[in-house]
Amino acid sequence: MPTEDVETLIVGGGLSGLACAAHLKRNGRTFRLVEQNDHLGGVIRTLSDSGYQIETGPNSLLARPEDPLLEYLSFANLAEKIQTAGRTGKKRFILKNGQPVALPMSLSEGIFTPVLSLSGKMRLLKEPFIPPATGTEGLSSEDETIADFVRRRLGEEFLESLIDPFVKGVYASDPHLLSMADTFPRLVAMEKTYGSLIKGGLALARQKKGAAPPFSREILSFSSGMGALPQYLAGLLGEDAGTNAEVIACSRSENGFRTALLFEEETYYIRSKHLVLALPAIQTAPLIAQLAPGAAPLLEKIPYAPIAVVYLGYPRERIAHPLDGFGLLVPSKERRKILGALFSSSLFPGRSPEGHVLLTVFAGGMVQPKLAQAFDEDLLPIVTGEVKSMLGATGAPSYVRIQRWGAAIPQSIPGHGARIRAIESSLPPGLHLAGAYMGGVSVSQTFSSGIRAADTILLTPPS
Ligand SMILES: Cc1cc2nc3c(=O)[nH]c(=O)nc-3n(C[C@H](O)[C@H](O)[C@H](O)COP(=O)(O)OP(=O)(O)OC[C@H]3O[C@@H](n4cnc5c(N)ncnc54)[C@H](O)[C@@H]3O)c2cc1C
Repeated sequence: MPTEDVETLIVGGGLSGLACAAHLKRNGRTFRLVEQNDHLGGVIRTLSDSGYQIETGPNSLLARPEDPLLEYLSFANLAEKIQTAGRTGKKRFILKNGQPVALPMSLSEGIFTPVLSLSGKMRLLKEPFIPPATGTEGLSSEDETIADFVRRRLGEEFLESLIDPFVKGVYASDPHLLSMADTFPRLVAMEKTYGSLIKGGLALARQKKGAAPPFSREILSFSSGMGALPQYLAGLLGEDAGTNAEVIACSRSENGFRTALLFEEETYYIRSKHLVLALPAIQTAPLIAQLAPGAAPLLEKIPYAPIAVVYLGYPRERIAHPLDGFGLLVPSKERRKILGALFSSSLFPGRSPEGHVLLTVFAGGMVQPKLAQAFDEDLLPIVTGEVKSMLGATGAPSYVRIQRWGAAIPQSIPGHGARIRAIESSLPPGLHLAGAYMGGVSVSQTFSSGIRAADTILLTPPS
């Protein structure tokens, strides 16, 4: 049986694995990355189809000044491709009584917005006077759901009208299901430090005044689509990254790990001092079962939201709505069958043929998981019907494509942080985990998880 020795083996060529590999490479360390698919990037991939530019996963990314991704974005070959969404990216619509209403973008717009009633706005103004949680309410901050936290601080109407649709749009979830501390740790910290989100927000806004690093806090993509990011990273790795290689088992060996993989129907073995599993939790669990028996059942308990992504192209004149923004969020109280829609061709140029628009519509999620698995012939009329009623589309779309993800977005349910800490403490030395369940699902957070794994390896001497 062919056996190869490397210092570090990285399993998974999604963004977290690529980030880990790129960081090791930049620091002169040797590794091998293996990916089961025929392409690198995991869920991040851009396809060209009938003149449309389709994103199978994320449509855009947002990096904060402190995110390690920002440094990579500044590298010339990637920086020259960056497209920023500008003001369009900041304008979002929310469905209210069946109609899209623009969310306020300034304080004065906020005063007059119909998104909240007068009593909802008055409740919001009370927020600075509501004492922070003391922990004596019977819930530890790790157990508090987003819904509990928001209801407590900002009121029921704010929760239902704004936070619920945001959580559906970003996490394909429900604020009653997700942990506040693990999903929005900054807001929890803000409550602790300033006693209020409004006071904290104002204080931080004053501190942030001044120049932010280029590309930070901007919704952005690349002229050739989000796929440019993994492509760029793959270019840095060259032959150290291989595709069509599925890892089937991992075990201990004398000085580290022995990993079996299938490549062209042959089994190969790789011995490594470090092993990085940069995979979704569900796929990590069976591979880790022998190495960290305590961790496998904990990984299996992390739920994932399933999503169907429906891409619809229309001649521009057949959509009544101006589509002048990022997209449309849909509160659960509207009782609709989609999670939300992105106005993909408005956000960045070149996403649709001349005279046409591209909508990216999400269905399923934690609340309506069956819709994510519905047959195309059942799903399509539901989604086009919703688009017709919400955005004024007439006639059938001229372009349709459907992408499904059985396990799209990991869910930080209450206790997630404690579960991750328990998983990490049960890992043998040399075994590292990275991925969207390890510290945030966004592109920038997933990238950071890979960098963290690499940083831990860099603390050890090269072999
Ligand atoms: C539909 C969708 C839309 C999204 N939209 C946004 C957005 O707009 N903005 C944003 O910031 N984030 C968004 N995200 C989230 C973000 O894109 C992901 O969290 C992130 O890209 C996940 O990267 P990853 O490396 O953790 O996992 P993955 O991308 O899942 O990569 C894991 C890789 O491991 C490989 N693998 C699995 N098992 C094996 C094995 N046994 N052997 C070898 N290889 C294996 C898989 O084939 C895969 O390539 C979205 C995600 C989805 C699914």
